[in-house]
Amino acid sequence: MFEIDNINSTKSKSPVRMFRLAWGMTRRLFLNRFRPGYVRKSLSQRQGNCQRCGVCCQLVWRCHYFKNTDAGPSCGIYGRYRPPNCRIFPINSRDLADRDLVSQSVPCGFWWHSPAEEKKESHKPEI
Ligand code: SF4
Repeated sequence: MFEIDNINSTKSKSPVRMFRLAWGMTRRLFLNRFRPGYVRKSLSQRQGNCQRCGVCCQLVWRCHYFKNTDAGPSCGIYGRYRPPNCRIFPINSRDLADRDLVSQSVPCGFWWHSPAEEKKESHKPEI
């Protein structure tokens, strides 16, 4: 099972940090609603898989449906009722940076290549 650091520490609840996490949640709501093309494109470039660490379920507050079971973190509404903000997390590397404010020791399973890496990939000769 994952140990999530600092999640209930005083530092993790500092007003600046909480504001940044709340802003991130608002940003994702906005992007989902008004920039679906951007969201689709960014998700298509996303690498990796969810490791089910459960950190994104506890960003601004601990989600009511989040449960830490013996089998690991679990979502009580995963299948049908999971909100869009949860389904698409993380949209971009800003979300990862916000998420790392809550837990750096357990990294998210998703990442993006940097623009420099993308450029290098596109110049690779095809075999
Ligand atoms: S933080 Fe990343 S790896 Fe962890 S549950 Fe959320 S999407 Fe999955």
